[in-house]
Amino acid sequence: MADIRRLIDQLEEQRILSREEFLQILSDLTEEDRNYLRERARAVANKHFGNHIYTRGLIEFTNYCKNDCYYCGIRRSNREVTRYRLTNEQILSCCKEGHELGFRTFVLQGGEDGSYSDEDIVAIITLIKTNFPDCALTLSIGEKSYASYLKYYEAGADRYLLRHETANEEHYSKLHPENLKLQNRKQCLLDLKTIGYQVGAGFMVGSPYQTKENIVEDLLFLKELSPEMIGIGPFLPHHETPFAAEQKGSMEMTLILISIIRLMIPNALIPATTALGTIHPKGREEGILSGANVVMPNLSPTSVRKNYELYDNKICTGDEAAECRFCLDGRMKKIGYELTIDRGDYKEDKIDV
Ligand code: SAH
Repeated sequence: MADIRRLIDQLEEQRILSREEFLQILSDLTEEDRNYLRERARAVANKHFGNHIYTRGLIEFTNYCKNDCYYCGIRRSNREVTRYRLTNEQILSCCKEGHELGFRTFVLQGGEDGSYSDEDIVAIITLIKTNFPDCALTLSIGEKSYASYLKYYEAGADRYLLRHETANEEHYSKLHPENLKLQNRKQCLLDLKTIGYQVGAGFMVGSPYQTKENIVEDLLFLKELSPEMIGIGPFLPHHETPFAAEQKGSMEMTLILISIIRLMIPNALIPATTALGTIHPKGREEGILSGANVVMPNLSPTSVRKNYELYDNKICTGDEAAECRFCLDGRMKKIGYELTIDRGDYKEDKIDV
């Protein structure tokens, strides 16, 4: 059996491995190797970010969605969801509360809600950026045209999250209806990069039909795109979707992949996601200890949180924004990290280049 540790060292030094080597790591990792991988990833994260954890205040501003992704709890065909849209005043008041709590990045996330024109989105961006000029604004509102992305950017949006979900066409078609194409998703990511956004890609770990080979493709795709942000979390079933009876993803595999991604793209902004916190009570702490450096507490009004359930049992749906921040603050302190009051922009890699 080849020496997995040597491969881990090689990954840290060269920041890439071949398809076969990645596959070998994913297949043959022993408990000891896993600990080693985690240690190396954490050392690299610490070198770049110290014990500082960036925070992003998540505002789930609409759960209307025209898409029908098989995994997602707010898909169009789910008639059981109470649909909502926050008013601009509500969004602003989330930001105000968030700002007082120390957030300097707001993430506007939603379903693909056709009722917003580009002008509506631009108005929201302008409102947030003029009221909170010291904050970064991230959008996560799905696939749009180059022209729309450009308008949002020119209005002041700084970052855009658009997980690629899987880099394999065939797998993509098993997770999405016919009208959604991997090619288009990838084009969106390229457009966002060209325009100048800090871009976030990523995927679900253990989504239905995902193979180890698919995961390796995801890793190679991420390396090629080299996004500034990389979000991964375990797939979790939602009871009102076609994947209701599917197995959930694994926390262990998610942590291994966070570590591999940290070694592959050392300065990437990698969140310990809510899905990770949902699959295990200490999931987010484990994520940080495996190389993640960002957390994304929820700032949405408590009244709507239950309605933004992408998967079952999502955590923190009953907590106020302040509770979420304090809870995470305590969790991070316990493992030797602290939340920082900072926009937490992507920084070019000045180490070892
Ligand atoms: N409409 C936006 C935001 C999607 S929600 C967009 O298309 O980008 C953000 C992410 O949640 C998705 O990209 C997906 O990776 C993740 N997600 C959705 N359903 C999930 C589930 N059942 N389990 C785990 N993660 C899920």
